[in-house]
Amino acid sequence: MSELVLNRAAYINNLTKICAKAGGKDRVILVLKDNAYGHGATIVGREAANYGIKFCAVKNETEARELEPFFEHILVLSHIPDGGESERFIYAVNSLSLIAKFKKGARVHIAVDTLMHRNGVAVGEAKAACEAALVHGLQICGAFTHFRSAEELSSDYFVQRRNFDTAKAVVREICGERDLVFHSHNSAATERFGELADECVRVGIAAYGYAQFDESLELKRVASLWAHKVSDRVLKKGQCAGYGAKFCASEDMRVAIYDLGYGDGLLRYVGEGELRTASGQRLLGKMSMDSFCCEDAGEKICVFDDARVWAKFFGTISYDVLTKLSPSINRRWD
Ligand SMILES: *Cc1c(COP(=O)(O)O)cnc(C)c1O
Repeated sequence: MSELVLNRAAYINNLTKICAKAGGKDRVILVLKDNAYGHGATIVGREAANYGIKFCAVKNETEARELEPFFEHILVLSHIPDGGESERFIYAVNSLSLIAKFKKGARVHIAVDTLMHRNGVAVGEAKAACEAALVHGLQICGAFTHFRSAEELSSDYFVQRRNFDTAKAVVREICGERDLVFHSHNSAATERFGELADECVRVGIAAYGYAQFDESLELKRVASLWAHKVSDRVLKKGQCAGYGAKFCASEDMRVAIYDLGYGDGLLRYVGEGELRTASGQRLLGKMSMDSFCCEDAGEKICVFDDARVWAKFFGTISYDVLTKLSPSINRRWD
């Protein structure tokens, strides 16, 4: 059976480096959204909690409930308020107009739009948002922003930094200095700038070993994807493999069918261009829903241990390759 094998030592290495950069375990909000970037929320979340991380961020309440056993604080980033908010979670306020829809008493972090123009209240609306939240009886526990291009050497980061400082001052003024949690640095910004005196970091992909900015940090990739052989055969000269006869053997060759396909979340190889598994075999012909064909290399092969290889081939990013991996693939620590 196909499986995603997770390297514990690599994961602990990454957490240790991130915590050192951030200024301590209590300064890290670990982003575990989308099934922990495809690695498996429960298996990864438990390990992170054992390591000493107390705060995580997720996409929605379904994800938050899955991680509830492990974390003291869980921030729900993309919540659409419906009046049923749980007192166990903290919710992002993504727009001024949504404040009245939250349940009274809900704990929130104000998202501030400092340039990205995705979610959040404008810097100029920060005061109105805090006041409206307090009038509505919400507990403001913090505020955050997100960088649109922290991995690029442009002035954007510094513009956003300045805008967020303005917003933080507003939030402090209205809410007082009590226990507010501010955060802005994603993986790239954390690698680049490290600790800030008054902020936590909010790190996702770096924990899985994919540096966005600083290769010298020596993050180690955590996941490797393995497929197992279903069958093998000799493809005779002139015979073609799979749908659409996209690959035809120019001489007799031994091929095998392995048990992973696009139904398992692999990006679909259509039989054009050279894509190789991490074990070195060339994929042959169009990928099927539950399998692909390649040169026979024994009972089990490593499909990838670096999502960037597939990301590059398909013109996308490692995040995309990883988060697509089906939750039904078995996941285990090595
Ligand atoms: C996904 C996400 C992150 C994590 O980004 P990485 O680049 O994986 O570190 C942080 N903050 C927000 C709001 C996100 O949506």
